[in-house]
Amino acid sequence: KQSLIVDANEFSRIGKVIAVVSGKGGVGKSLVTSMLAVAMNREGFETAILDADMTGPSIPKAFGLTGRAHMDQQGIYPMKSVTGIGIMSANLLLENETDPIIWRGPVIANAVRQFWKDVVWGDVDYMFIDMPPGTGDVPLTVFQSIAVDGIIIVTSPQELVSMIVAKAVNMARTMNIPVLGIVENMSYFECDECDKRHMIFGDSHLEEVAAAHGISRIARLPIDPELARTCDRGEMERYTAKDIEKLTDMLDFDSVT
Ligand code: ADP
Repeated sequence: KQSLIVDANEFSRIGKVIAVVSGKGGVGKSLVTSMLAVAMNREGFETAILDADMTGPSIPKAFGLTGRAHMDQQGIYPMKSVTGIGIMSANLLLENETDPIIWRGPVIANAVRQFWKDVVWGDVDYMFIDMPPGTGDVPLTVFQSIAVDGIIIVTSPQELVSMIVAKAVNMARTMNIPVLGIVENMSYFECDECDKRHMIFGDSHLEEVAAAHGISRIARLPIDPELARTCDRGEMERYTAKDIEKLTDMLDFDSVT
């Protein structure tokens, strides 16, 4: 197989690389990426996030990071979150964080590659990549240039009834990267008044879709207004959800083939 994989630099030692993908934007891919990083960081691992969602970078905001990343002749330095998660994102390089990124596909893919090889990541046990949405050219090029150990697919309940998940699974299989699990975000809502799970988007198809693709690890995340607020305030690191464990269970690399 042809390989375009580029090594990270001499200033980085990176352990497991997990790419978080989705069929389209707005399904909670960045949120799941953030939750995974927070959880692993809490467990004492050196953790980093590479925000490859160049046209909709939302990781810095979720962690309350503003300003610009430091650079010197060795490279660009990731910014550290309050609890020490290393973060690199297009928003940390722009003069003005509201500037739009209007690059075309190849330029975006190239920028992601630079985040991989020109950033002084240091020692990282778990790196989470918030991927560009979709299964088109850009994510494909990213997968061809970074050695990804596993993929986590984030979907909405509606996407599970379409072909989007199958596309993401096929992309992973084409790249020979194991799918670690599927997360159904905004799966249900639990209100304060009753403990019933309200299936806003109808019954879930998560189990059958996962089974159809031979994926054993699944997780459901509820619609949680508190989560949205925490994220908007840039306080992802304060969020304590019982669901976080279901996500980190997916990082058991020994159980996937
Ligand atoms: P993506 O990365 O897929 O584009 P985001 O993670 O940025 O999506 O989420 C989009 C928006 O939806 C954000 O404002 C986020 O706070 C909100 N959101 C995502 N998941 C949930 C959830 N389970 N409950 C409440 N709000 C959510």
